[in-house]
Amino acid sequence: MSKPVRVRFAPSPTGPLHMGGVRTALYNYLFAKKFNGTFILRIEDTDQTRFVPGAQEYIMDALAWCGILPTEGPGLGGAFGPYIQSERKEMYRPYAETLVANDKAYYAFDTAEELDLVREQAKQMGMPNWQYNSVTRASMKNSLTLPQSEVTKRIEDGEPYVIRMKMPRNEEVRFQDLIRGWVVVNTNNLDDKVLFKSDGMPTYHLANVVDDFTMQISHVIRGEEWLPSAPLHALLYQAFGWEAPEFAHLPLLLRPDGNGKLSKRDGDRLGFPVFPTNWTTAEGELYSGYREKGYLPEAFINMLALLGWNPGTPQELFSLEELVDAFSLERVSKSGAKFDPEKTKWFQQSWLRMQPDATIAAELRALNPDLSLSDAALETLVGLMKERATFARDMLTDGAYLLKNPTEFDGETLRKKWKAETTEYLKEWMLRLDGISDFTSANIESAFKAFLEEKGLGIGAVLLPYRLSVTGVGAGPGMFDVSAFLGKEEVLSRMKTNLSLLSNLVHEA
Ligand code: GLU
Repeated sequence: MSKPVRVRFAPSPTGPLHMGGVRTALYNYLFAKKFNGTFILRIEDTDQTRFVPGAQEYIMDALAWCGILPTEGPGLGGAFGPYIQSERKEMYRPYAETLVANDKAYYAFDTAEELDLVREQAKQMGMPNWQYNSVTRASMKNSLTLPQSEVTKRIEDGEPYVIRMKMPRNEEVRFQDLIRGWVVVNTNNLDDKVLFKSDGMPTYHLANVVDDFTMQISHVIRGEEWLPSAPLHALLYQAFGWEAPEFAHLPLLLRPDGNGKLSKRDGDRLGFPVFPTNWTTAEGELYSGYREKGYLPEAFINMLALLGWNPGTPQELFSLEELVDAFSLERVSKSGAKFDPEKTKWFQQSWLRMQPDATIAAELRALNPDLSLSDAALETLVGLMKERATFARDMLTDGAYLLKNPTEFDGETLRKKWKAETTEYLKEWMLRLDGISDFTSANIESAFKAFLEEKGLGIGAVLLPYRLSVTGVGAGPGMFDVSAFLGKEEVLSRMKTNLSLLSNLVHEA
């Protein structure tokens, strides 16, 4: 690659960042890092009517949580700032005027009412999709139809106007997309888009192209929803006489059933977040986020990376550094990527297992400052529960019996496994437990085996009832490990209390 790689993530601050947006940011980040390039954040807020307070902060915070912070952007510095379009407002008009001067754009004075009227009339004549284009412009009020003197006068009088692209007639626009190959569109299918608005602000199209050029962006990597705008952008580069950046349009994120785009409404409806972090609307409505649900950023990023890209090998677990090494735009697919909530949980489980016990223990301590366990005991608890938990905090709820004697007992295990003679066996087992001087998992296990052998009992006849009498549940980490963790005194005291309770419950059942 000859030019230095400079890529940008250019969200509009119209609300929280959808996970599709995070994926766009991630691919830009990976691409930049892979080629020792620069990852830039640019806030595209030219549409002031859609501005949502707090959205920019949300975006920065979410990217920071994901570990994919840009190196140039608002508040981050960089030689190409400002990085918020509204702060660049003054620089766009001259570019728009240059296009007018070069006959690539024109002033249009049609009012909103006049445009509505034309649309309405067209609709009544059976043309529901009227457009301001190379044909219809001839009958509209613009600098191509009005005498020059009138145009000058209207502008001098301060009459509102917009600047529109003068879309060439019947020409082929072509550009190469790094994911989709050649894209060819006939200009007859494109309208005379507004480039500069009557409020003195550029539209997305003009600002985006001017900024990508002036910020020396080498590759535009963005969502597929921008593909229809790309021919206009390609024409704008030509009109300015600029070399266009490379384009790569990423596939859509689809609903789990493959039916349509994953939208912000889907998340809480289908039971999974679509946002990286929680977002509360001005009306107080909460959209849940992965962070607050307890996901590790590593898991979230790993899952997102594989939604639309594949490494070409069976490897699924990737750290951010490994993703940088493995990533390539060539392996991004053209077709939409189905979001899979179950797989997302699998990534979380896998990443949770890879965390050091001490790290998880510290996190649990922070979540529950009142925990009475010592650091060492908490770490052991983590070691016991890690293989079964999806989220760190599950360990304290699923493993609540590691902290205190259960008050509820799993009825199904009780009914299935508690026989007439079970209480007697367990009473005898208690005596054996009492006799173990060094209460380690290994010692408990060998005592247990000896006990079974002596009594001629199968493992199932005693182990499950034993577990039930100590933990209240029918499954969990190795029961000898659990016993050693609780200690002899606690195990025996629980059994003493619970055995009579359980045999009574069985009689009632
Ligand atoms: N502001 C656009 C957005 O909200 C950016 C599109 C682009 O990257 O060109 O996604």
